[in-house]
Amino acid sequence: MSAAVPTPNAALTLLKTVWGYDAFRGVQADIVHTVTQGGNAMVLMPTGGGKSLCYQVPSLLRDGVGIVVSPLIALMKDQVDTLRGLGVRAAALNSTLSPEGVREVEAALLAGTLDLLYVAPERLLLPRTLELLERAPVALFAVDEAHCVSQWGHDFRPEYQGLGVLPERFPQVPRLALTATADDRTRADILNVLGLRGAPQFISSFDRPNIQYRVATKEGPKTQLLDFIRSEHPGDAGIVYCLSRKSVEDTARWLQAQGVDAVAYHAGLPPRERTLAQDRFLNEEGLVVVATVAFGMGIDKPNVRFVAHLDLPKSMEGYYQETGRAGRDGLPSTAWMVYGLADVVNVRRMLASSDAPEEVKRVEAAKLDALLTYCETASCRREVLLEYFGEAYQGPCGHCDTCINPPQVRDMTREAQMALSAAIRTGNRYGAAHLTDVLLGRATEKVVAMNHHTLPTFGVGATHDEKTWRGVLRQLVSLGYLAAAEHHGLSATGKARALLKGETTLALREDTLSARPGKRDRGDRTRDRASRAPVSADDQPLFETLRQWRLTRARAQGVPPYVIFTDATLKAITEFKPTSHATLGTVSGIGQRKLSDYGDEVVQIVRDALSGKTVTLPDPQERGVRANSAVLGVLNRRGPDALDETPAPASVADALRDLRRTLTRETGLSAYVIYTNAALEALAERQPRSLDDLRDIPGFGPKRIEAYGERILAAVDRVLA
Ligand code: ADP
Ligand code: ZN
Repeated sequence: MSAAVPTPNAALTLLKTVWGYDAFRGVQADIVHTVTQGGNAMVLMPTGGGKSLCYQVPSLLRDGVGIVVSPLIALMKDQVDTLRGLGVRAAALNSTLSPEGVREVEAALLAGTLDLLYVAPERLLLPRTLELLERAPVALFAVDEAHCVSQWGHDFRPEYQGLGVLPERFPQVPRLALTATADDRTRADILNVLGLRGAPQFISSFDRPNIQYRVATKEGPKTQLLDFIRSEHPGDAGIVYCLSRKSVEDTARWLQAQGVDAVAYHAGLPPRERTLAQDRFLNEEGLVVVATVAFGMGIDKPNVRFVAHLDLPKSMEGYYQETGRAGRDGLPSTAWMVYGLADVVNVRRMLASSDAPEEVKRVEAAKLDALLTYCETASCRREVLLEYFGEAYQGPCGHCDTCINPPQVRDMTREAQMALSAAIRTGNRYGAAHLTDVLLGRATEKVVAMNHHTLPTFGVGATHDEKTWRGVLRQLVSLGYLAAAEHHGLSATGKARALLKGETTLALREDTLSARPGKRDRGDRTRDRASRAPVSADDQPLFETLRQWRLTRARAQGVPPYVIFTDATLKAITEFKPTSHATLGTVSGIGQRKLSDYGDEVVQIVRDALSGKTVTLPDPQERGVRANSAVLGVLNRRGPDALDETPAPASVADALRDLRRTLTRETGLSAYVIYTNAALEALAERQPRSLDDLRDIPGFGPKRIEAYGERILAAVDRVLA
């Protein structure tokens, strides 16, 4: 599999034959070239950007085996299964192997019969493994999730720091560090530990164009969530993040009661339940996992269609990472979040009352500020998000909620002054509810008891409603004009002074003034759903049939469905409708191995779909999925030839349909290219007995008559005779 000096063409050929992809994406080609030539590289690419190919292709092009250091044993199996499905000789070396399994892998390594080997860092650093590698032909070292070397980052793993032995003991073997999260300090740590200073750094944009970002104010979070799932992601896999274990369990139970296939996941569950939830998520098509942030590391499922936040994440980093679990496969996905006044007060209060060192608190406060600014922004969310990560994004994106439905921004300096002075005059210690009562002029028991009904601020805000004031207060807390202390008390900050004196003005989002943002955007949402659905409504049955077939296949092989084909590939098949091996082979994601393993079955499904045969799969476990007769054929292990053994058709229409199916098989052309359903109906009605009769049929020109005329007449004869 190796050549002395592999050419760029060799890489492309490999990409096409093994992976079935036509071109490298972005910087992939440069990275592959650099590493294949023996160079080191640092790769910063967002989730779903395509990091794996950056080391997999060079591993195949270079002599020896590519060693992939990966922190998560759970992920290795999927990676190895996926590669084996492509015909690549891959294995993993980790603690899940039996001693015998370890011996087998080690033998293959020394014999040079492996292309890729996945190793956990602690296993790699064992003296035994390092000695073994010194005797084996090694093509490269790829350190995946390289940010784990840094104590600075959030996923620090002490074993990763030991990887500094690689440049010492294997100076001649190229090293490649890959990560999706790295600020400047983390990046410096990676370069240091892995000895990559001076190596080229390949940095991609961190934009995830296929993810739509949406943030709404909390009205009734569970109902909002259900509405979102039902209207936009029915039957899709998704993750719902909640802050507490209790709300995780409540929400999961509630979704289940509403008929959504959902399961809870948090660190307090018994390990067995957690593993079960994770396995179900990976192996089923449309499960919703309601979880705390404990869920996510090690979830590499490419077709997560949405990530929902019912509570505020900790920081922009957290938000980006959590939402980033959606849409690894590049297909349209949604990052959806609701938050409200109580959430903002809560996170502010938690931070204020934490007993972390002042410096840590300052950093965390700044991170929270950034997140809240993002939530409250009236401009393009993608712009704010990427700007936070230091990227100059040329927005607006035209695709996030604020782009689609721009909120009105209004000068609300006066309202802000009223709210701030209500807080100050009541002694900077009451919560939002009490302040709202004062502003609205409600003489509640508490207001009267505290004598607040005698304040000049009492009732100054009566021309607005309660919701408006909650929105104003929320934004004032978010933007740092009000601080939240213990017991939810709000106090004016130093920042408020200039505003109160009238030295500065404040523009706030007005969407909090209009009660029902939902109604207004319903039209947009439906339109959006249509444009986000993986395939058109017409193609939906075929897509579902293919999904169903994939699931059956995956179960039989004991792998997750996406190891068989990604959603992106199924979508391409659905749209392209290839009816022969030759055309199927041109679909993105179908390499040689997939073609020979699954070509017959997929082509048959497409052909049957084109000839209009649909039946319902009798599988009570699945949602009422409409499936194609070809699936039943596959399930019953009937070859496609079985169709030819069918007795003489009962009607001319049936005979013509059978004939069309035979012709699609012979020619590789799509059914409607041979003759359309309209033409078929006309033929069935006219019952032609001669070539002349055919000339009157719409759509039958001389070419078609020449190609299929005799066969059509024979088919008609067979029924009428
Ligand atoms: P990452 O590890 O960066 O999150 P992956 O390597 O898992 O991303 O790739 C994400 C998806 O994109 C996978 O389904 C992969 O097969 C696909 N992909 C990567 N590179 C290409 C390419 N050049 N052409 C088509 N699809 C690609
Ligand atoms: Zn936008």
